[in-house]
Amino acid sequence: MVITIGVLALQGDFAEHIKILESMKVNAIEVRNNSDLQKCSALIIPGGESTTIGKLLKISGLDREIKKRAKKAMPIYGTCAGAIVLAKKVLNEKEFFPLELIDVEIKRNAYGRQLDSFEAEVEIKGIGKLNGVFIRAPVISKIGKKIEVLAKFEGKPVLVKQGNILIGTFHPETEKNSELHNYFLGFL
Ligand code: GLN
Repeated sequence: MVITIGVLALQGDFAEHIKILESMKVNAIEVRNNSDLQKCSALIIPGGESTTIGKLLKISGLDREIKKRAKKAMPIYGTCAGAIVLAKKVLNEKEFFPLELIDVEIKRNAYGRQLDSFEAEVEIKGIGKLNGVFIRAPVISKIGKKIEVLAKFEGKPVLVKQGNILIGTFHPETEKNSELHNYFLGFL
């Protein structure tokens, strides 16, 4: 059976994720509704604008379906805005209701103005050093007991996992690097 990886394509940089997956010879599709999701064994939620992605998830009904599939162990990888969407709690956004699939508290746009967007070398457990691209990135400010920290930057977690859910506050897809995608596919 051919395994299909879905990339949530409601808003944001889904095209870059698809490109990386295709370069890895992985079958990847854009996910815009529940029937797209049904074809997928795993899902990537890309960077973009978390409030917009959140609203569109609700309108499309994908929020409930993603939660259901996550509870049945579907692997999900959220990058940047995708990490915010998956968090248990978003500290500085009252009108935003995240999917609560990973036990972290997260703060949007949490690096000050000077560090608004930047690149930094991140050392990832089991993978090694990668160039992380942080674009108006959030900060994971609190983690639950079941969280495994895979990478830190300036003492704060930037890549963490809990069971089948992986989130990172930086973009791996803007680099011509498929190591994190490869790591995520290992969840299958
Ligand atoms: N600042 C965006 C948000 O809060 C996230 C930025 C990104 O995904 N690169 O949704």
